[in-house]
Amino acid sequence: MTTPLLGQMMDVPLTVSSLLAHAARHFGSTEIVSRRIEGDLHRYTYRDCETRAKQLAQALLALGVEPGERVATLAWNGYRHLEAYYGTTGFGAVCHTINPRLFPDQIAYIINHADDAYVLFDTTFAALVDTLAPQCPRVRGWIALCDEAHRPPMQTADGRPPVLCYETLMDGQDGRFDWPALDERQASYLCYTSGTTGNPKGALYTHRSTVLHAFGAALPDAMNLSARDAVLPVVPMFHVNAWGLPHAGPLAGAKLVFPGKDLDGKSLYELMESERITCSAGVPTVWLGLLNYLRETGARFSSLERTVIGGSACPPAMLRILEDDYGVQVIHAWGMTEMSPLGTLSKLTWEQSQRPLADRRKLLEKQGHAIYGVDMKIVGEDGRELPWDGVAFGDLHVRGPWVIDRYFRKEDSPLVDGWFPTGDVATIDPDSFLHITDRSKDVIKSGGEWISSIEVENVAVAHPAVAEAACIACAHPKWTERPLLVVVKRAGHDVTRDELLAFYDGKVAKWWIPDDVVFVDELPHTATGKLQKLKLRDLFRDYVLPSALEDSRNCPLTPEA
Ligand code: ADP
Repeated sequence: MTTPLLGQMMDVPLTVSSLLAHAARHFGSTEIVSRRIEGDLHRYTYRDCETRAKQLAQALLALGVEPGERVATLAWNGYRHLEAYYGTTGFGAVCHTINPRLFPDQIAYIINHADDAYVLFDTTFAALVDTLAPQCPRVRGWIALCDEAHRPPMQTADGRPPVLCYETLMDGQDGRFDWPALDERQASYLCYTSGTTGNPKGALYTHRSTVLHAFGAALPDAMNLSARDAVLPVVPMFHVNAWGLPHAGPLAGAKLVFPGKDLDGKSLYELMESERITCSAGVPTVWLGLLNYLRETGARFSSLERTVIGGSACPPAMLRILEDDYGVQVIHAWGMTEMSPLGTLSKLTWEQSQRPLADRRKLLEKQGHAIYGVDMKIVGEDGRELPWDGVAFGDLHVRGPWVIDRYFRKEDSPLVDGWFPTGDVATIDPDSFLHITDRSKDVIKSGGEWISSIEVENVAVAHPAVAEAACIACAHPKWTERPLLVVVKRAGHDVTRDELLAFYDGKVAKWWIPDDVVFVDELPHTATGKLQKLKLRDLFRDYVLPSALEDSRNCPLTPEA
């Protein structure tokens, strides 16, 4: 056997620090703008950011943090959070981003499970830290992301570790530091799933997976990032690394703008206009707020070209309004924490873009096409791969260099034949477009057939009087489950149950039309803004559908019969 001929190229590891180093060196004067907790707008450059990230690395090393240890953040999108991303991973520590919207008990669980050495926090979360500190005895110190003048009053009793001041730590360092050469397979970030389906589980990324993901995210058929962009990530840096924008931005040399804690329509709109934003990204709920603001004020975007919408299904109505009324391209994206998170994005090929508008729309409403780095398949209950015909739906499995191999500190492998089962149910059509019909736990099983709760919700939110809708399964004596629609009305609008049900005519198969509608003031959401179906199903556990009452009288399957 002949020995394979090895290539003769430099073996440069793909490290997270190389992304910032590249931006600092080649786009040194490009700006990073942040709306701060202190109330003002902070501006500096990639060059400044790298120096400060190095100061942070020095400060953490001086505190005794060792490579491989976890340093957590509880923070909004801002320049200090970005420094934390690079100042930790840069010397081999692991940046553990925590979602502050989780319940304190869940946060304490995560901090203890991750064994975080230090936690950096925005002063907004001072009271939360006071609650967490006694429950997290192994944390060696809590670092407030502010200067001495903005230090929040905090509890110091019961032998708690010290609360340190970020800017004071930074002042003690000169930033003269060389990023060490790391093994690209070393851990970079630790992100926990939001626990919509049980206890949070940790996904531990590598430097290599983070850099490859950044390349993928920046591609033209993904977020299409370039040095001509001003990017505003609304998606939080504590939610799957803001979908990779803090890495793909420096890779592309794009200007970054961070919104801080105010994510209401007015605050976001003003920032988008004043900073001439070209590209943004966020979950549908955020765009709901922004669209409401635009509708109320008659405001228009003057620079926004495109936005990535994902995290949960983007309602087709939202896509139409943004594109037709505001001229903003919507890139519908699908992914998950376990995938760093990007999997698919809806972009058309040249051939698809020649098709009639209605056909193009239908494609763009789906979750899109896999980007290089992600392979996917759908499988039936017997584990066999299903055809890509747009009709067959099954469990979605993925694999690739930025998909997890296993969960942090869990023995069992989640993989099935080398593929990661996503827990989503989907179709893939002959155009290779993925369409998520549901999470496997949310799908409604009516008489042996499946109803997509997402489709049913999408029709409801297209009604002008509906602000938000959730479709859940209700027990049914004849059909096992039937859909119930739970609706929040738009302020100042009205609609009756029967009007809303009539609105479904011709839009979905007859048997997909919900059996009943309940109007509520608000719907429960998870910490990442997704509908909390589990809670909703609990709330409506004893709800009896009118159709169930009728059928239970003459259905032989009911227990009473
Ligand atoms: P968690 O699993 O912790 O709630 P993630 O943010 O990782 O949080 O969520 C991943 C899940 O979100 C996916 O498995 C899928 O169910 C849902 N999701 C993400 N993007 C979309 C989308 N564009 N359309 C439909 N569902 C989506």
